[in-house]
Amino acid sequence: MTEDLRAVTGRIHSTESFGAVDGPGVRFIVFTQGCPLRCLYCHNPDSWKFSEGEERTAGALIDEILNYKNFISKGGVTLSGGDPLAQPEFSYALLSLCKENGLHTAVDTSGAIPLEHCQKAVDAADLLLLDIKEIDSADCKALTGQGNENALKLLDYCEQVGKPVWIRHVCLPGYTLRQEKLERLADFLKGYRCVEQVELIPFHQMGMYKWDYVDEPYQLKDTQTPTGAEMELARDIFEKRGLSVHG
Ligand code: SF4
Repeated sequence: MTEDLRAVTGRIHSTESFGAVDGPGVRFIVFTQGCPLRCLYCHNPDSWKFSEGEERTAGALIDEILNYKNFISKGGVTLSGGDPLAQPEFSYALLSLCKENGLHTAVDTSGAIPLEHCQKAVDAADLLLLDIKEIDSADCKALTGQGNENALKLLDYCEQVGKPVWIRHVCLPGYTLRQEKLERLADFLKGYRCVEQVELIPFHQMGMYKWDYVDEPYQLKDTQTPTGAEMELARDIFEKRGLSVHG
């Protein structure tokens, strides 16, 4: 069984041995290659194409990860991307191998992949970092190229099975950073017991240069980073509804 899992291959964008922002504690991060979305603010457009990246086996990756076991024993391993759930067999294999080795696992996902294609990988993770891009599905499509139905179904599933979720949400001026939008999202999330915290991420321009890599135009050149006061207001909206806010 372990040998079968070790042989499963995936396409990998990159790895990071000491990640501190993608889940609890110090973590080894595996960035998988390939994403079905096209978020206007994406800071990793070089992770979009499924045909790129490096093909690696789950076995080779767990061997590399175990070199860092002492450093990540109180943190764990996070699969990020791209979207790891777009390679569900590989993610399942690597998550299972991490579990066999006593490592806590998290999956960082937009929830764009239908649950029926990735349920095994979701079940194998200890924690989901779920990026709800937009609470309004039509606006989500304008922002990312796809509506939010799959992400919301994934959240419902986590609620049903008691899987812990940390919500991530990028606050983008002119799009998601609007009082009514934030109130609607916070009202929606406050009913979910599986949601342990909400991370509000201010939009930034740090990935702009990577858009030279893809054919599509970067549309947010003139969009400003939210001010501290704007982020404080956003935070208040969630905290007033009893949600624990991080960031
Ligand atoms: S889900 Fe992430 S990797 Fe995919 S397009 Fe959006 S920001 Fe980029």
